[in-house]
Amino acid sequence: MKTVERLMPAYLRDLEPYDSPGAEEDKDGKIWVNANEYPTATVYEERFDTLNRYPEIQPKLFCRRYARYAGLEPEEVLVTRGADEGIELLIRTFCDPQTDTVLYPAPTYSMYRISSRTCGVRAEAVPSQDGWHVDIEALCDRLKDGKEGKGPAVKLVFFCQPNNPTGELFSEPTIRRLVECAGEDTLVAIDEAYIEFTPESTMVSLMKDYANVVIIRTLSKAFALAGLRCGLLLARREIIAALRKVIAPYPVPAPVGQIAAQALSDEGLALMRGRVETINQNRAYFVRRLQALGLSVYPSVTNFVLIALDEAPSVYRRLWQAGVAARDPGDGKTLRISIGTRAECEAIADQLQRIRGESL
Ligand code: PMP
Repeated sequence: MKTVERLMPAYLRDLEPYDSPGAEEDKDGKIWVNANEYPTATVYEERFDTLNRYPEIQPKLFCRRYARYAGLEPEEVLVTRGADEGIELLIRTFCDPQTDTVLYPAPTYSMYRISSRTCGVRAEAVPSQDGWHVDIEALCDRLKDGKEGKGPAVKLVFFCQPNNPTGELFSEPTIRRLVECAGEDTLVAIDEAYIEFTPESTMVSLMKDYANVVIIRTLSKAFALAGLRCGLLLARREIIAALRKVIAPYPVPAPVGQIAAQALSDEGLALMRGRVETINQNRAYFVRRLQALGLSVYPSVTNFVLIALDEAPSVYRRLWQAGVAARDPGDGKTLRISIGTRAECEAIADQLQRIRGESL
C-alpha cells in the first residue's frame, strides 16, 4: 500500500475521483450533451467591490426570491454549493456512519452512492425489476424490514423526480406512499434537479403534510447556471436549522449570491420559462427524429433523453469521434443525450442516422 493511501480511512482508499468523460476538455469543437447543461449562456451583472468582506451566511435576497418562487418561507430554504453539496450535507447531518444506511433506487443519480461512501455511511440500492422502472414496493419492503430489525435501519432515502438517467416521472400518490413507508424516523430527500421542465410535478406540497420530506433543487439545469455551483435544500425550518449546524461557514461566495438573485428576479424567471419552452420543443423534435430512425426512446419530460441501443458503447465512441460528447450510463444498453439547441439536435440526429446506416 502506498503511504498516502495508508493515511486515508480504509473505506476511502479505492475510491475514484468524480470523472465525467471530457470534463477537463476545452469546450470548443464538440457538441456537449453529456451533463444535462443548458446549451447557451445568459449574461449577468457582477460587483466585485466588496470581496474584502465575508459574504452573507446565506444570500438573503436570493433566499427570499427562491422561497417566493417555490411557495415557501425563506427559513425553509438553504443555499448550497450545487445540489451535490446539498446531497452530501444531508448525509453528514443526519447519518451516523456506525448505524445508519442510505437507500435509493437503481438506476439513479450516482452521487447518492458516492457521497454516502465518502462519508463512510452504508449505501444500498434497490434495483428495478426491469432495469428502468423504479420499484416503489421493493423500496417500501426494504424500509419495513429496517424498522422490524430484519436489515440495517434506513435513515435517509434519495428519490429523484424526474429520475436521472431514465427520465421516469412519479405520481404524487406514489411518492406519498414512499414518504409514509419511510415514517418519521427516516428522511426522504426528493431530488427535483429537473423539475422546472415539468413544474406541476413538484412535491413541495408534501412538506406541508410530512415533517420528513426534503426537496433538492439546483440552478444548474433550467436556470442555465451549472458553472455557478448553486443548489438548494428545501425543508421545514427544524431541518434547515440542523443543516446549518453542519454546513461550512459562508458557503455561498458573494458573486454567486448576486447572480443567483438576478436569476430569480421576475425577468430571470421569465427567461428560465422561455428556456424550458425551447428545450421542450427541441426535445419533441429530437425524439421524433430518433423514432423515425427506429430507435427506442424512453419517455422524458426533462432536458435529456435516454435511448435504448444494442451497441451503446460503440455508438458512444462513434458519436465522440464525430464530435458529439454523449453520456454512457455504463449499462451497455443505453445512451443519455442532453437536449441542446435545435441545430445541435439536428446535427446529433444526422450523426445517429449515419451511424445506423453504416451498421446495416
Ligand atoms: N441531482 C441530479 C439528479 C442531477 O442530475 C445533478 C447534476 N447532474 C445534480 C443533482 C447536481 O446538481 P448541481 O450541479 O447543482 O450540483
